[in-house]
Amino acid sequence: MARMPYPLRSPVRSPARLTSHLLEPTRHLHLAPPFLLDNHTPRYLSLPPTTITHKYSLCHTHLLNCNLCPRLCSTNRYQTTGYCLIPATTVSINTLAPHFGEEPCIQGHNGSGAVFFSGCNLRCVFCQNWDIAHRKNGFDVTPEELGGWMVKLQEVGKVHNINFVTGEHVVPQVVQAVLAAREKGLKVPIIYNTSAFDSLESLELLGGVVDIYLPDFKVWRAESSKRLLKAEDYARVARESIKKMYEQVGDLCFTGDGIAKKGVLLRHLVMPGMEEEGKEIMRWVAGEVSRDMFVNIMEQYRPDAHVGKSARSTKASLGSEQLDGVAVTEQDGERSATTKVRYSEINRPVTGEEVSSVRRAAEDAGLWRFCDPVRHDGFNI
Ligand code: SF4
Repeated sequence: MARMPYPLRSPVRSPARLTSHLLEPTRHLHLAPPFLLDNHTPRYLSLPPTTITHKYSLCHTHLLNCNLCPRLCSTNRYQTTGYCLIPATTVSINTLAPHFGEEPCIQGHNGSGAVFFSGCNLRCVFCQNWDIAHRKNGFDVTPEELGGWMVKLQEVGKVHNINFVTGEHVVPQVVQAVLAAREKGLKVPIIYNTSAFDSLESLELLGGVVDIYLPDFKVWRAESSKRLLKAEDYARVARESIKKMYEQVGDLCFTGDGIAKKGVLLRHLVMPGMEEEGKEIMRWVAGEVSRDMFVNIMEQYRPDAHVGKSARSTKASLGSEQLDGVAVTEQDGERSATTKVRYSEINRPVTGEEVSSVRRAAEDAGLWRFCDPVRHDGFNI
């Protein structure tokens, strides 16, 4: 049973109100006043000119000696590229369109104006976008050109927001694009949709520019992040980054139309056999960041990318045959072969019980704002 959100939702009623309440059906919108905004002006519209100049200068300085993410490549991106494969003056975009695969409060009726970048600073072995994340696979545009596309998404697509997906490696270009779009008439909120493998320097650049942070806190243990994300210090960085994001924009807030306008929405994709890590993440969020964090515990994990592929390093011979990814065992003179696959421990979907156990841990820790299926005719807010 979901925890009742806030005492504010159960005021003492006068007898007259009580009577009318009994006669009329009650709608529960899961919305408490602290999270309801009368209106919202995107933060980038309020930036003073001196801050804008400072941000442009910071963008340039960081790109000259790039330590903008925890990979700390120290490359001059005007001359070469680092781990993320993206230079200084352009970004590589794979898809730019109204997107309907986000949370209801993000996509609304018209969609979220998604900008899917190519390249990434992680190498998740299970990545569902590996074809654009692990390699450069998109069209190159300058920040100014991207700003023009953002305005087009707003004017033609009528999207509710601009949603930068996996932009950890192109933060200076993202900031420059928002500032260019502001000059061209952009007025919808900005979403930064991230793996949370961000640096504090990046988040400083994004401060005052981003309205909503969507961090996906993936795994808790260093052994897991080293093996599955190829980044041993992932969880430490994610903890630091999410705290900084929360410091900037606070809890997720909505306007009366049910669309999120500012704050942090934290995601966690439950992984097979790794529910204990999900529980740790929930306890940390509730204890160290906010019990009012809006949380999406996601269950859509499916094996992808390198997971479940033949383990090419094990080559065995069975009789006259040479086989890739096969382990041969011998017992009582009988030889048998089993196919070995990579990352076999996560080569299956998650179970309902694994997802439920993370949810229970989240509730036990005091979290109560979840992205659940709607039980009314609006958005779940
Ligand atoms: S943003 Fe790219 S170049 Fe810069 S430190 Fe990260 S991976 Fe390296």
